[in-house]
Amino acid sequence: MVKAVGKKFGRAIHYDFHTSPGINNIFGNFDAEKFADQLEKAHIEYVNVMARCNMGFSYYNTKIGKKYPGLGDRDPLKEMIDACHKRNIGVTAYTNIGLNHEIAADNYGWLKISKNGSIYGNNKKDNFFRVMCYNSGYREYFLNEIREICEYDIDGLFLDCYTLRECFCPKCVEEMRKKGVNMNDDFAVISYQNDVRLEFAAEMKEAMGDKKDKIKLYINGLSWTVGFQTHAEIEGLPTIPVLGYDYFDSLAAYTRTLYEDRLYMSGRFQNEWGDFGGSKTFASMQNDLYDAMMNSFGISFGDHLHPVDGFENEVASRVGKVMEERMAYEPYIENSDNIVEIGVLIHSNKFRREMGPALKGMARMMKELKLQYNVYDENGAFDDVKLLITEESARFDEKLEKRLNDYVKNGGKIIFTGAAVDLGKRSGLLDYIELVGPDTRDNAYFTAEGSDMRWAMYSPSRVIKNVSGKETAKYIDNVVNFTWDGRQSCYYRPQGEPTEYSAAVLGENTACICFNVFGAYINNFLVEHRDLVKTLIDALLPEKLIEAPDMSKTTTTALTKNENATVFHVKATYPEFKMTRGIIEDHTYMKSVTVSIKGEYNEVYILPEMKKVNSKQENGRTVFETGDILGYRAFLLK
Ligand SMILES: [Zn+2]
Repeated sequence: MVKAVGKKFGRAIHYDFHTSPGINNIFGNFDAEKFADQLEKAHIEYVNVMARCNMGFSYYNTKIGKKYPGLGDRDPLKEMIDACHKRNIGVTAYTNIGLNHEIAADNYGWLKISKNGSIYGNNKKDNFFRVMCYNSGYREYFLNEIREICEYDIDGLFLDCYTLRECFCPKCVEEMRKKGVNMNDDFAVISYQNDVRLEFAAEMKEAMGDKKDKIKLYINGLSWTVGFQTHAEIEGLPTIPVLGYDYFDSLAAYTRTLYEDRLYMSGRFQNEWGDFGGSKTFASMQNDLYDAMMNSFGISFGDHLHPVDGFENEVASRVGKVMEERMAYEPYIENSDNIVEIGVLIHSNKFRREMGPALKGMARMMKELKLQYNVYDENGAFDDVKLLITEESARFDEKLEKRLNDYVKNGGKIIFTGAAVDLGKRSGLLDYIELVGPDTRDNAYFTAEGSDMRWAMYSPSRVIKNVSGKETAKYIDNVVNFTWDGRQSCYYRPQGEPTEYSAAVLGENTACICFNVFGAYINNFLVEHRDLVKTLIDALLPEKLIEAPDMSKTTTTALTKNENATVFHVKATYPEFKMTRGIIEDHTYMKSVTVSIKGEYNEVYILPEMKKVNSKQENGRTVFETGDILGYRAFLLK
């Protein structure tokens, strides 16, 4: 677990300030004192402000870079630091590693060159239309920029856009030749670039001088598990269709097992970064706050400071109200951690921080089933969870094999899905099945108890045969795979006959599902896939932390604990999809349901008003009615 540096993030704002050329009156109406007043009124504890922007302009007194034209002697970075520090607001300085368009225009030898020999992307509206090479003279330039910025009295550094891309510039080609990298192998080329990134990141940290390890450092784009970062900061504007509302959960469940200090960087934008004239509704911002609290994260809103006028009053007011709401809960949620029963097992990834679709499918399913989970990699502290679920990407390695065997010996249960059945088999934990091999069908089907419908798998992975376990779902063949013979297409592929194979088998301490059930779920949301997983979970983990059978699938729950309080969170609000964009305009109303929570708590209160709720203790559990809920409610369990 990486320890927090400085006060942990609670309430923050992240300002972009990328300025196109041609603003004649930059910072013209901006008064740092008024700006800091706005932040103080909005209850902001940390703010990220610009030292240098994507476009390549600096907003401080630089000797090496280009100040934005018209700034003259003004030093907005210093103005903002001084005004914020007077009000006890921490300041993180922003600069961008991968993008620096002014410097790029003057130094075309410092740019990445793609495989087909181009330095420019086709779309000049995409701000990544050219990117810097980390093997060029830019490297020393950037380290000097960090040295300059660290002369300021900052509390953190945010280094953005540390992208991982191929580069075939003369310098990278020369280096790859020296190291014997096969340049026709895309993975080898990217691996080499990742090595360059890790070396350069270590140099960035050294360039911080005596601020190293004393202030916060976040390098956006770097994997979570390669060191350098002081905290986890999850940038995930949920209203952007490609990220959506399923992006944050799985990353949060993973990074809270790695970092003590965690921040959910949502945004105020309705559209995207740089959306000056769009702001999400207040209800939508509240929803992001609830997601942050339920995952034991601080909340930050991304914003774009207007180049002339500064912080929009309307945005300041909405953010302020959200932060005020958080403050009311803070005694109960600050420094909290989630109480979990399930561990989802993945492998650490030194290249990227993003997670595959299967993990999102898993996060979604756990939420809908009201199961409390963390995501752990192979080095994670999963020994105390009751049940492990390994998704499609879990691979075999000897150390992990031993850990999983010890885990089961100590009473743990494991479900292997899809290709991870290989891991279960090689670990000796699936002796009750025969692994026939990879499944070559492009779709297959299954039947389970309760219906004779032959449900689609969508994503076949392994063929397994039950030997001495309990079959919970049967494998049904498809009639044909897709083929095109020049005359006809076998697009329509109906169900065939039952086979000797199984789709899901339950053993004493473990179970397995032959297909990539979580990947199939996030792409299709067939509820029978969830039912299939639920059957196995119910068998291996009969008693759950939270039982609320009448609560709708769209309602989310969480249990968090800090040194003073155990809190049960219920969130009824969820986005309505208008075309592809998830929108929250009004909160959702939930009728009262009965909830049973593991553990005997003497008293239950609605937070923050401390209104007592009638509760009773039954068989080691606490049972109460939630009452009708509009949006969100937190209960203190005493
Ligand atoms: Zn290069």
